[in-house]
Order: sequence, then C-alpha cells, then structure tokens
Amino acid sequence: MKVFNTLTRKKEEFVPLQSGIVNMYVCGPTVYNFFHIGNGRTFIVFDTVRRYFEYRGYKVNFVQNFTDIDDKMIKRANEENITVKELGDRFIEEYYKDADALNIERATINPRATEFIDEIINFVKDLIDKGYAYEINGDVYFNTKSFKEYGKLSGQNLDDLQAGARINIDERKNDPMDFAIWKKQKPDEPGWESPWGMGRPGWHIECSCMAHKLLGETIDIHAGGHDLIFPHHENEIAQSECRTGKAFAKYWMHSAFLNVNNEKMSKSLNNFFTAREILDKYEPDVVRLFMLSGHYRTQLNFSEESLEASKAAIERLYNAISNLENLLEEVKVEVASDSEREYLKHLSEYKDKYIEKMDDDFNTADGISVIFDMIRDMNTNITTESSKELVNYCLSLIRELGSPLGVLQKTTKTTLEKEIEELIEKRQEARKQKNWALSDEIRDSLKSRGIVLEDTPQGVRWKKVD
Ligand code: AMP
Ligand code: ZN
Repeated sequence: MKVFNTLTRKKEEFVPLQSGIVNMYVCGPTVYNFFHIGNGRTFIVFDTVRRYFEYRGYKVNFVQNFTDIDDKMIKRANEENITVKELGDRFIEEYYKDADALNIERATINPRATEFIDEIINFVKDLIDKGYAYEINGDVYFNTKSFKEYGKLSGQNLDDLQAGARINIDERKNDPMDFAIWKKQKPDEPGWESPWGMGRPGWHIECSCMAHKLLGETIDIHAGGHDLIFPHHENEIAQSECRTGKAFAKYWMHSAFLNVNNEKMSKSLNNFFTAREILDKYEPDVVRLFMLSGHYRTQLNFSEESLEASKAAIERLYNAISNLENLLEEVKVEVASDSEREYLKHLSEYKDKYIEKMDDDFNTADGISVIFDMIRDMNTNITTESSKELVNYCLSLIRELGSPLGVLQKTTKTTLEKEIEELIEKRQEARKQKNWALSDEIRDSLKSRGIVLEDTPQGVRWKKVD
C-alpha cells in the first residue's frame, strides 16, 4: 500500500513499525458544540482509512482524542453557567450520536485531555529538565529554537517563521515562536495543581502526551485536517521528539478541507451545517459517498446539488442490490454453471482493480468508479436464468467493496416484502372503515400464498409458512 506522507511530501510504501499492526492517532474534536460536516469530512476520511487497513488484514489501534479543555470550552461553559466537565460530557455524547449515525466506527480509545493531566505535567517537567522548555511566572513555554528541526513538517524554516510572527504583548514568552505547554490559571478558569502553580495544559501537549501514553513513543500514523499541519502538528513533533529523541510518527496524513464557495467550512465563518442538520435530510450512505467522491487530499466543495447527485448515485447502487435480492427469490438453479464460473472470475477482477486504486493512497474516488462499473456489468448479465450461487456472489462482492467506505451495508426490502406491507396497510384501512369483507379477502389471499398474519399489540406481523 502507498500512503502520501506530509512529512516527506511523497507517496511512500506503507511499512508498519510492527508487522500487521497500525498504530494511528487522529486529532479529534473540541467538544464545545455539535460538529459540522467539515469536521465530519475529516472523521469520515480517517474512518475509511482505518476500515481499509482492516480490510487489508491489519489490526488497527485507532486513537482519537476529545479536546475537553481550551479557551472555547471555558467560554461556552461560562456562558451556560455550567462546568467545563459538564459541557464536555454533553457534547461527547452528542458527538457519538452523530458519528454513529454517520457509520463512523468507534475508536479503540477516545481519550479526554482532562483525564491525562498527571501525565501531561510529567511531560512538561521532562521538557524543562532537558532544557527544551522554561517557566515564566506560572506559564511554561516550549523553546522552539532548541529543536533544530522545527518547521520540517510544514516545510518552513524558523527564521522565516520568526520574521512573520507578531509579538503578542500579553504573552511573556522569550520568543514569539515559542508556544505555551502549560497555562497559568486565570480567574473563572478551571485549573489543576502543578509544580508551577494552578493551571491547565496547552492544546498541543495533550495530543503528544496521549499518543505516547496510549500508542507508544513512535507511532505509525498521525492524522488530522489540513489546518492542523501548522502549528499544531509542528508543535507536537517538536515536543515529542525533544522528549524521546525518537521520531514521533512515521507517516503524517492530512485531509483537505470541505469548502463552501471556496472557503473552508468553519464555525468562525458561520458558513457551516452541522452533521445533524445534514443527516435530517440525507441518508448516511449519501453523506459518506459525497465525502469520499473526491480524493481525501483534494478540497471538496459542499453544495446541495452535489449531495443530490450522491443521493441519486446511492439510489442506483441500492436498486442494483434490491434487484439482486429479489432475484434470489426467483432463480431456480442453485449451483453456478461453468460459464458462470468464468463470469465469476471476470467479476473478481473488479475487486483487484478496486484494491489497486485504494492501495494507491486511498483513492476512494476511483474505488467508487470501479464499484459503478461492476454494478453496470452485473445489471446487464444477471437474470432470472442465473444461479443462486452467482447472485449471492454478486451481492457479497458489492457489500465487500462497500464496507471499507462504510456504505452499501443495508439490506433492502424485497419487492415481496414491500407488496405484503402494502397489502397489510390496505387491510388495516379496510378494518378501520369496518369493511370486513375486503379485510378478510386480503387475509385469505395472503394465506393462499403462504403468508400468515398475526395481530399483536405492536401491530400486525406476518410470517411465511410452508
Ligand atoms: P476542531 O474541532 O475544530 O478541532 O476540528 C476537528 C477536526 O476537523 C480537525 O482535524 C480539523 O482539521 C478538521 N476540520 C475542521 N474544519 C474542517 C473543514 N472545513 N474540512 C475538513 N476538515 C475540517
Ligand atoms: Zn491534536
């Protein structure tokens, strides 16, 4: 498999540190609000990366954090007159509701920054002891000059960065490029005891610390949205590598933005839709297909029209599934013939093609095209004359190729099921109107087809008897 590594700016062969295992850390949401579908793109992209590694036989240890202490958290909690912890609890719960609805697999671990305060304090202590960080009156800063490779991820050099940096008069740090790893408590802010007095961790240190603690000093993949390359990930590298003297992550992956009219979707620009708003209108499969219809390193523009196009595409795919499921009830031959075996082989070539595309830095756009080509082929070649074995193979192949993308896993209602449900509804209507003759007629006609109705407190149920 090939993965584009932001650090080397090249597509590289993926070689895990331990054979068969991928240790992966993805920067997660700050839990002060519902997440928007721009964030959703990043979550869906890395969920797909994880699912695809699993599809290719890797065991993936997937850590995605919740940032549950920062300025935005404190501001919102104060506005609502609740504690930062209560705010975090609430929006972590809301995160799970939306992420589950988007068919995003639960992480192996979702650590919360506030649960790692002791470890973070030890991390900060280590950096001071080793001469990479310094304290000024309760704040602790990382000395960027002490890390010679600072800027290597974003491809900038420290002198240029320094020339561009503005000196913030509120901060007492020695150099404008230094960044806070521990922040002194201000009035109305939560704080924890530390060797430097009451305070709280800076944002960058939490990810370094939790990645070390949960996945080890060197991990396979560190990932997040494109906006995190600088300064967040640059700073994470500096702290982590100064502490351990080892490479922090072998591969750095970044997903491009979801835009609205060529601008990043973001809370601050107020051009966002929450995942929840979009899920009210569109099925999760539609949202995922839309997000994965472009390569993850290419910006994607959000519009109702593109979502409508994805909706039509998903309908086409599910129609094919539904036709195949209906055929299963009609076909007469069980076992595949010799010529069908040849056709099976031909179909399996689509799978090879799909793997070839997805192995090439998770090219979901091309992977999806392969699924469409395959389904077109099946639509023209599978008929009532086909064998059950072949139809079943087609169905399992569609589901198999859909699963790394997190789509096409629903079973559709067969025509028979839909017809029975319609008849049951018609019978209920007849009963309401006291038209017992029609109601009995429907019951009897279903019975003659081996379908028995049962009136239960939960409504009418049906079952097939032989
Ligand atoms: P935040 O909660 O703002 O820290 O963001 C959580 C994740 O969503 C980070 O990995 C961000 O890089 C990512 N993200 C934020 N906005 C967008 C966007 N418009 N498109 C894609 N990813 C985004
Ligand atoms: Zn992070």
